[in-house]
Amino acid sequence: MNRLESAIKIDGLRKVFTRKGEEIVAIKGIDLDIKEGDFVSVVGPSGCGKSTFLHIVGGFIDKTSGKVLVKGNEVDKPAPDRGMMFQESTLFPWRKVFGNVAWGLEMQNLPKKEIHERVEHLLKLVGLWEFKDHLPSELSGGMKQRVSLAKVLAFNPEVLLMDEPFGALDSQTREIMQVELLRIWSEAKKSVLFVTHDIEEAVYLSDYVVVLTKRPSTVKEIIKVELPRPRDLSIRKSYEFIDYRNYIWDLLHGEENVKGFSRSVSNAN
Ligand code: ADP
Ligand code: MG
Repeated sequence: MNRLESAIKIDGLRKVFTRKGEEIVAIKGIDLDIKEGDFVSVVGPSGCGKSTFLHIVGGFIDKTSGKVLVKGNEVDKPAPDRGMMFQESTLFPWRKVFGNVAWGLEMQNLPKKEIHERVEHLLKLVGLWEFKDHLPSELSGGMKQRVSLAKVLAFNPEVLLMDEPFGALDSQTREIMQVELLRIWSEAKKSVLFVTHDIEEAVYLSDYVVVLTKRPSTVKEIIKVELPRPRDLSIRKSYEFIDYRNYIWDLLHGEENVKGFSRSVSNAN
């Protein structure tokens, strides 16, 4: 793999919504270059345009101006080279776990035997092969998100676009999912663009954390996270980890002008 190749390249991205004749500038200007295999998180104040940004890269929302390239191709509509995951699972409730993951492969008209092999591989990858005959309603929130991930991976996308995929999970399940995601990411070797409002999640997972300003958003700073990999959860207790977290916390709270916040408070910790 050529490490210098861009998986996602964004130049001067701008998005203006028009509502009742009024223009809302959601994104003023984003430039970003994500290399193949990188795990990049985006954090920013609520309402700054994170979801809008991810949906533009996914091809679900039109940009106003600028360039969005995925593997060198201009994005203008959704396509299987970009796998999208959301906070709520997007499983078909009437299909069993196996059938949900197989769906993307059936769409490609692959032979039955090949579909079975691929689904088995993917369900083993996310640790749910034994649950292949269960319906989504019989699974926990964390399990549903694992199946959703397997379903997205079935399309063999170039990049994974994830919008707060663990946002609806309790904190313990969330941590387990973060560990699992890193394991799957290191095996599947995909570039990931991951939106979250959880700073620790961003630091734990990422090679780079992109901090956006408040709306209309621009890139405030890109932090390279140089924690060693593979990472286990205990890394969160390290001083290095806490330094990253505090640094990004300061950047974000500087944006949000939170009342009662004083920089000296965080420095004293
Ligand atoms: P985030 O995900 O960072 O919380 P969003 O991307 O959802 O933020 O929204 C960014 C801004 O764009 C918000 O002010 C929101 O109200 C506005 N916005 C999002 N979608 C639309 C839309 N379809 N029409 C008008 N305004 C929108
Ligand atoms: Mg959002």
